[in-house]
Amino acid sequence: MSTDKVVITQAVNQQIQYILKELNFTQLAVLVDENTLVNCYPLIKASLPNHCLIQIKSGEEFKTIETCNHIWGRLTAEAFDRKSLLLNLGGGVIGDMGGFAARTFKRGIKFINIPTTLLAQVDASIGGKLGVDFKGLKNHIGLFSDPDQVIVDPVFLQSLPPAELASGFAEVIKHHLIADANGWEMLKKQSLPDLNWLETIRHSVAIKSRVVASDPQEAGYRKTLNFGHTLGHAVESFKMINDDSVLHGEAVALGMIAESYVSYKKGLLSSEELKSIENYIDSIFTRVNIMPEEIDEIFNLVIQDKKNKNNRVMAVLLEGIGSAKWDIKLTPSEIKSSLRYYSN
Ligand code: NAD
Repeated sequence: MSTDKVVITQAVNQQIQYILKELNFTQLAVLVDENTLVNCYPLIKASLPNHCLIQIKSGEEFKTIETCNHIWGRLTAEAFDRKSLLLNLGGGVIGDMGGFAARTFKRGIKFINIPTTLLAQVDASIGGKLGVDFKGLKNHIGLFSDPDQVIVDPVFLQSLPPAELASGFAEVIKHHLIADANGWEMLKKQSLPDLNWLETIRHSVAIKSRVVASDPQEAGYRKTLNFGHTLGHAVESFKMINDDSVLHGEAVALGMIAESYVSYKKGLLSSEELKSIENYIDSIFTRVNIMPEEIDEIFNLVIQDKKNKNNRVMAVLLEGIGSAKWDIKLTPSEIKSSLRYYSN
């Protein structure tokens, strides 16, 4: 994705007015959920020309084709044509699903993302992955296509619940660990309230954009962005199946500790580096509770990860802080011992 398609600003209204003038469109729709309707829409409403407001229910459980039906239905009822524009105002769910609905409506209309969660600002809005969940499978139906524009303004973070902010911050930590050793030295001295969000977002967007640009279809290097996600996703699914919940970022934080431990055991990371990663993550996230008897079940979910090859678990490991290797085979004993290490 070219970097001029992402504007990071503290003047979202000015940017909206500028970009709406630049984009040639007929009608405009704005997609919100009940939280972004109350917390974010009022911040930009005055800058929007006449538009159709489409509201959906918040939450991953509504990231479905049924919700797309509702979006397509509204666009059809309002007689939107192929030159119309959808503005997605929300977190990763709205961005992924709104983008998918836009790119499939009449074979594709334009869309803009204004991400309102930290996760969407530093991760989901960059990289062109669009889609919905299907029959319980995450992001099972979708496509790659970049938004016509992304406008990121930290002002939206002010209303974000602290747990959601921390959840998005796991991706910021990840970007440092896989790609910026010097940045990590500075980051680890700062806690969440000390951060300059504009700079933090800029840094993460630059890293993600660079990685994606060098490997858009995830043939190799882009896989490094999955650091922490192999074990993290398995724990996230395990908790969901058992009617317990962890936020995505809490699971990724767990995954980063467990996968750093495997990196250490394979001689890729020093014990000092492992400790510094653990100490920083523990200063931000409470550890997820994993009982010893749950480890086998979590392991069975790791085996189902869609990134595995020939039933072999493939993970991303750190090769020193600031650099990562992908497609590293993990053995069952490495996986289980890393989960035991985390939970002890
Ligand atoms: P989300 O979109 O569900 O938002 C989290 C919650 O915060 C929701 O309840 C939402 O209504 C609320 N919210 C949003 N902005 C707010 C604000 N400013 N103030 C108050 N409340 C606000 O979740 P998310 O964490 O942003 O995104 C998760 C989704 O992103 C998942 O579906 C995941 O698959 C996807 N994702 C996509 C990519 C990608 O590359 N496309 C990358 C990572 C994650």
